Amino acid sequence: IKTEKSRGLIERLGRSIPGGNTRSLAYFAPYPLAISRGSGCRIWDVDGNEFVDLLNNYTATVHGHAVPAIKEAMSKQAALGTVFPAPGEPQAELAERIVGRVASVEKVRFANSGTEAVMMAVRAARAVTGHEKIIKAEGGYHGMWEQVPVAWTQDPPGATPPGVGALVRLVDYNDVEGLEAAMEEEGGDVEAIILEPVTGTGVLTGTPEYFAAARRLADEHGALLICDEVITLRLGVGGFQEVLGVRPDLTTMGKIIGGGLPVGAFGGRADVMEVFDPRSPRHLHHSGTFNGNLMTMAAGCVALDLLTHGEIDRINALGERLAEGLRRALAERPDLHGVVNNCGSLVHVNFGTEGEVRKFSDLKLDSPMAAAFHLAALDEGVYFAPRGFMNTSTAMDEQVVNEVLEACARALEHGGLCSAEG
Ligand code: PMP
Repeated sequence: IKTEKSRGLIERLGRSIPGGNTRSLAYFAPYPLAISRGSGCRIWDVDGNEFVDLLNNYTATVHGHAVPAIKEAMSKQAALGTVFPAPGEPQAELAERIVGRVASVEKVRFANSGTEAVMMAVRAARAVTGHEKIIKAEGGYHGMWEQVPVAWTQDPPGATPPGVGALVRLVDYNDVEGLEAAMEEEGGDVEAIILEPVTGTGVLTGTPEYFAAARRLADEHGALLICDEVITLRLGVGGFQEVLGVRPDLTTMGKIIGGGLPVGAFGGRADVMEVFDPRSPRHLHHSGTFNGNLMTMAAGCVALDLLTHGEIDRINALGERLAEGLRRALAERPDLHGVVNNCGSLVHVNFGTEGEVRKFSDLKLDSPMAAAFHLAALDEGVYFAPRGFMNTSTAMDEQVVNEVLEACARALEHGGLCSAEG
């Protein structure tokens, strides 16, 4: 495909934005494509190339792009004003939808990103337990806050003070014994165990045993359990916690609940959330100029209404079909050692590992084969994350998934992927 206009735009951006990039994850070499529009499950770059969007802004646009009902809700709200520093009915509408869907969420608050939601949930846990440390999974992603460090990047030395690092204890995901040992050692200091029910990085699916252990250990040691469902809320009406049969104290959310606009939310046990009640003189302060902004509320309500049980089942089945098809295609290229992980609508393709991908250290996120597959798939009209992460949307059907699978098979065949690393 021709990408001159993308390259030109990246050069232009680079004159005012470092590296032409304002979202680290969105960068890939030699330069990312500049996307100018989307409709349903398709997007177009500035050169006019068309792609099936298998990334959906990292799972956020679960209904695809320019969704008519969401556009209508947004323009109605835009005509009335976008944000006021005041309560408003659309906040009640979205909050009630979330409380109605997620059993453990009795009270909720809105923020503008998943990062903020995580930050405030962790601070709430600290405030109510009086403990300081958090336990998180190696490779678990919880946003940009320094207390939940991103495992696969190397920040400049000094960017995170050592005192902050000392507040975090990492454990292997799905390793019950490891979690028990960590809680044994740190227990009295732990304010929260924070876990993704399914990891965004690598799509490792949490086991019911692991989450039951986390629940029990948190209770035994006076800590809270936080489920970070920023991505996984799309997997079930009540989030993936419902599937795992776990009731966390707090849940963090984002992405799909904003209908394509910036959002974060956190909620859970009413008695814990009371720490934010402004009528109490010692409440925990949580502000944000755009918290609960009415555009996000309006779009989010429609997005949740459209994400019914039936639609969730449908995109989960499409995710299964995608994963199965990719497994069949990869079976033709055993030299690439491709492994596909999936959980419902979430799919991750990993290259260069022997055997199953069960923990973060099994992943080869910077594999040159993953990069080559990504570029080859773009050439064939399929858009997903450079590291091999994909997800389905309600704008897709089986025919679109078949189209994607044929394109991916061509990418694997002609994309110049070879098993020699480097
Ligand atoms: N938690 C999880 C599990 C996430 O996947 C993400 C974002 N991908 C975040 C938190 C942070 O959300 P945001 O990018 O909206 O800050």
